[in-house]
Amino acid sequence: MAEPFSDNGDPEKMEALRKMAITHGASNARVVSTADIPIDPRVRFKCMVPKCYMSGRCGHCPPYGYPIEKTINIMKNYRQGLFFHVRVESSIIAAKDISSVITSGKADDAGNLYSLGGHYMLVYTLVNMIRKKAIQIGFSRTEGFSASNCKDVLCFWKKGCQRLNGDGACRNPEMSAPSMESAGIDAFKLAAKSGWQVYPIGALCEPQSVKRGMLMGLVLAA
Ligand code: SF4
Repeated sequence: MAEPFSDNGDPEKMEALRKMAITHGASNARVVSTADIPIDPRVRFKCMVPKCYMSGRCGHCPPYGYPIEKTINIMKNYRQGLFFHVRVESSIIAAKDISSVITSGKADDAGNLYSLGGHYMLVYTLVNMIRKKAIQIGFSRTEGFSASNCKDVLCFWKKGCQRLNGDGACRNPEMSAPSMESAGIDAFKLAAKSGWQVYPIGALCEPQSVKRGMLMGLVLAA
């Protein structure tokens, strides 16, 4: 059962964003108050301890990206956000060897790498689309948070993150966004508060041990 959120801000405009997210591929979407978005430094630390393979290799991943203080300050400038998720079948997101397939940089014969990449790409696309739509319908500013790291999604075939290793400029400034977790936002807790059934999926997870996976995104608008 979803918990009621404390502030629904600008309901008509937020509903327009919610409907757009669903129309373009989100499995579910909900307007949330920023006061109800859990921020926890331990979420960001989890990217570094134990060290995720992408920690320090992507401009949006810890120790780079948004420090927790920045996330807290961003939240102070917004009252509301659109929180959404994209469902991924467990046969794809928990496919055997999917972690090693991702880190190897080579596609697998089963097609799970491309399929999973497509789901992640949808999350990044939705964040970008929702932000643009928000400005079109009268919001003056937005902030977007996506899922996982943008290196594997947007720069998978590139040698490295250009923001870190090149001239400091991101190759995909419009599409790229920090993930919720990299910024210290507890997406799992927010999903649970939203009444969504969420299953953590680790590298050793078997498809039959989880019902499904979900990739989450968040757009703040004011
Ligand atoms: S989109 Fe590419 S260049 Fe931009 S921050 Fe992500 S990995 Fe780096």
